[in-house]
Amino acid sequence: MEANGSRTAPEGERCRLCRSTNRVITEEHVPPKSAGNRGAFVGRTLRLEEGGFRTFSGAEGVSLRVLCERCNSRYGSSLGTTFGDFAKAVIGSGRLLTRDGRLFVSTQEIFPARVVRHLLLNHLCLLGDGEGPAPEDVRDFVRSRDPSPPPGLPNVSLYYNQSETFRVVPIAGVGSLLRRPRIGPWIGGEIAAPGLGAVFTYSGRDAIPAITGTDLLDVSGWTSAGWKERVSLQLELPPTAIREPRPLGFGTPAEIEKRWSTHSIVWLAVRGGPLDSSAAFWRRTKRRPA
Ligand SMILES: [Zn+2]
Repeated sequence: MEANGSRTAPEGERCRLCRSTNRVITEEHVPPKSAGNRGAFVGRTLRLEEGGFRTFSGAEGVSLRVLCERCNSRYGSSLGTTFGDFAKAVIGSGRLLTRDGRLFVSTQEIFPARVVRHLLLNHLCLLGDGEGPAPEDVRDFVRSRDPSPPPGLPNVSLYYNQSETFRVVPIAGVGSLLRRPRIGPWIGGEIAAPGLGAVFTYSGRDAIPAITGTDLLDVSGWTSAGWKERVSLQLELPPTAIREPRPLGFGTPAEIEKRWSTHSIVWLAVRGGPLDSSAAFWRRTKRRPA
């Protein structure tokens, strides 16, 4: 594992979506700007190889050089517009809770097929070249308008992130969960911005309540929606606050510590992606002046 300090892709890197090596690679915000990834921030990356954290900071949100110019405008921008409408509805949803403590979100005229493709595109952008259990399937699906998801797509679940903290986990393996071989190992990733959090699961969705302490909102069915299908949806998102840089650790530090020791959650396998890390965890320091 090379230990360069750059968060950006080296020269000659392939586009994460079309795999072209001969186009200019441009910056993509992950999570997207529409999900609040803008302004000054301070972050930490967790480097398992070095056994510790490294601090990084910036003034304009976290962006990665991962998409070629053509993919950035064709998919990053076009999907990003419809995703932004959805993210705004979630982030601005107020504080109305359902009887079982879930946050009620009313969305108007969203395109589920495009929202879920944008989430998957962001997930793909975080992975190293060719990394992930089925990167071809994810790439094909994001570029297609076909409402027939390939078998290798991850399950996609959402939650409401009550904290002002971002947490990004490109891909991680969690094993020994609950000491029940039926469930582990679990492979997945996470992209969480204040307000909206998404978890990508490649194996054993059953493990999610054990890892997160709650049952997230499964939106995988949106991959079967038609490209032009536009709907108003009432969603119920489990609210939770990120306080923990380790992947998929939810709740208060005491709660996490309890689950950690009870369920023996450990890392199984992580490789460096474009973040040059296994996970980034950052906080907004101030809003960008208008
Ligand atoms: Zn491309």
